[in-house]
Amino acid sequence: MTPVQPVRGTQSLLGEDADRLAAVVAAFDRVRRLYGFKRVEVPTIEHTAVFARTIGETTDVVSKEMYSFEDRGGESITLRPEFTAGICRAYLSEGWQQYAPLKVTTHGSAFRYERPQKGRFREFHQLDAEIIGAAEPQADVELLSFGYQLLQELGIAEGITLELNTLGDPETREAWRASLVDYFQTHRGDLSEDSVARLDRNPLRILDSKDAKDKAICAGAPNVDEYLTAEASAFFAAVTAGLDAAGVPWKRNSRLVRGLDYYRHTAFEFVTDRLGAQGTVIAGGRYDGLIEALGGPHTPAVGWAAGVERLAMMIDAPEPLRPAVVVVPLGGRAELQGQRIVAGLRREGVAADMSYRGNMKKRLGRANDAGAAYALIIGDDELDRGEAQLKDLGTGEQRAVSLDLLTEAIAR
Ligand code: ATP
Ligand code: MG
Repeated sequence: MTPVQPVRGTQSLLGEDADRLAAVVAAFDRVRRLYGFKRVEVPTIEHTAVFARTIGETTDVVSKEMYSFEDRGGESITLRPEFTAGICRAYLSEGWQQYAPLKVTTHGSAFRYERPQKGRFREFHQLDAEIIGAAEPQADVELLSFGYQLLQELGIAEGITLELNTLGDPETREAWRASLVDYFQTHRGDLSEDSVARLDRNPLRILDSKDAKDKAICAGAPNVDEYLTAEASAFFAAVTAGLDAAGVPWKRNSRLVRGLDYYRHTAFEFVTDRLGAQGTVIAGGRYDGLIEALGGPHTPAVGWAAGVERLAMMIDAPEPLRPAVVVVPLGGRAELQGQRIVAGLRREGVAADMSYRGNMKKRLGRANDAGAAYALIIGDDELDRGEAQLKDLGTGEQRAVSLDLLTEAIAR
């Protein structure tokens, strides 16, 4: 390792690649305002217990992927692997309960120690949306509409499917879990090593396995529908009716479970086949038990998280901002005039640049490459006349303009 190597699974981005991430975040911020979601900020670090208790000790995230360390005071601290747990911690510690039902969003880095590959990083970025303190299925519908509109806004809704499932209420989940354990016991010998371990600790997670052998066994596993209580069925029916009314297309996937332990009722993923194995762009569901796991009162809630890098890979490249004019000063006096003009244009809200290196041909070439509409050429002798040459880079036409009238001329 040398000091100039990046940490594995991290990215440093320039220009268009960075603009893509920013475009995803900007669209998210526009849509969340339309839906009346407040913005929150939560820390990058939390006490390790915040994640261990909520996400679940048996999940991959907690058992293998967390960046945890002991700080100088001897406390176990973890870099957030996701946002939900930290937002729920803040909901309890910051008195946000008084605002329930609380619709909030945030975005930023998350950290997981996993094997880096296309669409999978160790530091990545998530968009996060939560409705806390709402038990109604209409909250699930609102949150899913939000996700769908975000994809529409990004111009990628066409290639993405909303896969929807219910995990039922605690009674449903228990009964389904017991029958899954029975079923997988009879196939124990053919399961992957990871899934054999899950069998004792977290059998639902076997359904989420990416192993081909496991997948084949999962195809014959008992279906959650056989265990749904009347209440759980009614809840799911209200969610799907709401989605239909709101014009959000969805597809039932009765095998879908979420990797984290805290889900109840609605579970969903927006998936695409355009990103290879990393096809889930938004994932979430209802997590009515999470806040209790943190020691708070029973608080129903629903939320999702989206992978910014995965969305950014799918969108069209954002248009770079083209300067309206590039000033090309020739000589020291012209450079000072150039600085005055460029600063004035930018203050007026006109994108402008100054080209101060190389010969005239090079400078005009670069102005052209940047997509500028005009070049403003300022030479010392023209300056004496209070003039400069304005060259239309599209047509090649060039005319003298008075420096005083310049701002007006460019605005026209
Ligand atoms: P996966 O099955 O791809 O590992 P997950 O179930 O672990 O995903 P969640 O915890 O639900 O993912 O996170 C929500 C979203 O964040 C994912 O759908 C994905 O878009 C994104 N995401 C998760 N882990 C990563 C990562 N390591 N790199 C990039 N994006 C990620
Ligand atoms: Mg994962």
